[in-house]
Amino acid sequence: MKKLLTGNEAVARGAYESGVTLAAAYPGTPSTEILENVSKYKEIYSEWSPNEKVALEVAIGGSIAGARTLAAMKHVGINVAADPLFTFAYTGVNGGCIIISADDPGMHSSQNEQDNRYYAKAAKLAMLEPSDSQETKDFVKEGYRISEEYNIPVLLRLTTRICHSKGLVEESNRESVEIKQYEKNIPKYVATPANGRKLHIDLEDRLIKLEEYSNNTHLNTIEWNDKKIGVISSGVAYQYAKEVFGENASFLKLGFTFPLPKEKIKNFASEVEKLYVIEELEPFLETEIKAMGIKVIGKEYIPLTGELNPDIIRESLLNKKVEKINRNEEMIIGRPPTMCAGCPHRGLFYELSKKKNVVVTGDIGCYTLGSAPPLSTMDTCICMGSSISAGHGFNKACEVNGVDKKVVGVIGDSTFFHSGITGLIDIVYNKGNSVTIILDNRITGMTGHQENPGTGYTLMGEEAPQIDITKLCESIGVKDIKTVNPLDLSETKKAIEESLKLDVPSVIITKYPCVLKKSTQEEIEDYGLDRKACVVESTECRKCKMCLKSGCPAISFEQDKGSIIDENMCVGCDVCLQICPFDVIKKVGE
Ligand code: SF4
Ligand code: SF4
Repeated sequence: MKKLLTGNEAVARGAYESGVTLAAAYPGTPSTEILENVSKYKEIYSEWSPNEKVALEVAIGGSIAGARTLAAMKHVGINVAADPLFTFAYTGVNGGCIIISADDPGMHSSQNEQDNRYYAKAAKLAMLEPSDSQETKDFVKEGYRISEEYNIPVLLRLTTRICHSKGLVEESNRESVEIKQYEKNIPKYVATPANGRKLHIDLEDRLIKLEEYSNNTHLNTIEWNDKKIGVISSGVAYQYAKEVFGENASFLKLGFTFPLPKEKIKNFASEVEKLYVIEELEPFLETEIKAMGIKVIGKEYIPLTGELNPDIIRESLLNKKVEKINRNEEMIIGRPPTMCAGCPHRGLFYELSKKKNVVVTGDIGCYTLGSAPPLSTMDTCICMGSSISAGHGFNKACEVNGVDKKVVGVIGDSTFFHSGITGLIDIVYNKGNSVTIILDNRITGMTGHQENPGTGYTLMGEEAPQIDITKLCESIGVKDIKTVNPLDLSETKKAIEESLKLDVPSVIITKYPCVLKKSTQEEIEDYGLDRKACVVESTECRKCKMCLKSGCPAISFEQDKGSIIDENMCVGCDVCLQICPFDVIKKVGE
């Protein structure tokens, strides 16, 4: 039966049909829905791991045990998992293992747009690049066969368009795959230098065999049409190229892109007059093909940054001007990204924004929006977990160079579990004195509300022990830990001021559920979540605009009326009510 599936759903289906029994991931756009869909198949044990390195190590352990396993992550997640990744190629697999890298050209929701195809080359993994949902499912199934036959982990490289676009997929039954027998094999699985040297030689042999496979596999196909133009492409870029050239060009469509099918490429190139390489982001294919002495046209015309589309290819290669819809910029209302009305982070950032001589090192999550106006309360944001460690570095540099600045690192609960904890250990161990604020909104917010070690539930919906952040911080030696309700501005202000005065590491935990969270009855009662909306007594408003400094999207301002609260958006968090110096914001009905 055919079903309309996104690429991410197709990965999950492919894993199910391949007899996978273990899958692990850390959520991250555009990969998040892979594990959310895998978890619907009860035959597969699936988990949100605290970070991508752990997820990959779980998948490696499962593979060594003999099971087919999957680890999924976004492109920057592979950076976190890179340590075990490189050694895994050496040890190889027992049960087949696929690692998903979901890249984000155009940075729809990422801090960079790195091209992870280079990881396959650097770590020496087999790599697959599907071009639509059906191929995604098929490639997963083929990937497990490659992984087991060639004793190698397979990198399945997707991009946002493949992950999130839908296409028809023919579903099949689940393959019955016996778990392979585990046999103790120290030379294979214990990567000491002596073993590693032998494993490296063995890996190079496996790559030679894989190149042979690459030359012969149906995953790398030639479509002969007009031979005046030849196009070599992979992934979603193939679809765009096909749309632009149709039957006016012949195509070498690469689905298996590391090791590259060099013989096939040479043969194809020798048959066409002009050869284009069309690929998104880096010249990964182009550089390799040029190194083979083949003349190609590519990145001198095709942009190196951002997503491609057929219009960009038409313009860059065929010099065809594409008609665009003229829009009246004056009619378009700017909608800068902002924290939701009632976001529990607002109170903390509002209070932090008033502090002078304080540097705020930020992190990846909804709270990165604390950097946006009017709060503008963030000086840095590098990668997951860096708020605490980069803050520590900033602090130490100031200390040794006699610069008078206090540093506050802000990090979410899930990100703290991901990689913030090691930074905090560093601060305690190396006698830093910066302030760490953990914004615990009781869920992994930015990626769409996934469970994490602090929420009390697993990905599979089972109740789980909740890691107590306070006790965790205590256990690593933080002496000063305060927990505040970030919607209570005076309590939050007092905690920040007290912590800034200290000369020892200090942690403030702002604990209040995300405004969009589906809260339990217990949480509704504990946090008083059934709040009434607020309203401005318009005749009394002094038009001072102080409430606008909260940045709440439920508040607007009109010159003749003053501030207005949209009751449909307002959740009654009371932050603006506390900010108004003239007490003209009230609860509805009071
Ligand atoms: S109470 Fe004020 S700050 Fe809170 S959601 Fe309503 S309008 Fe926004
Ligand atoms: S802070 Fe109060 S007085 Fe000032 S604009 Fe807002 S509602 Fe009006």
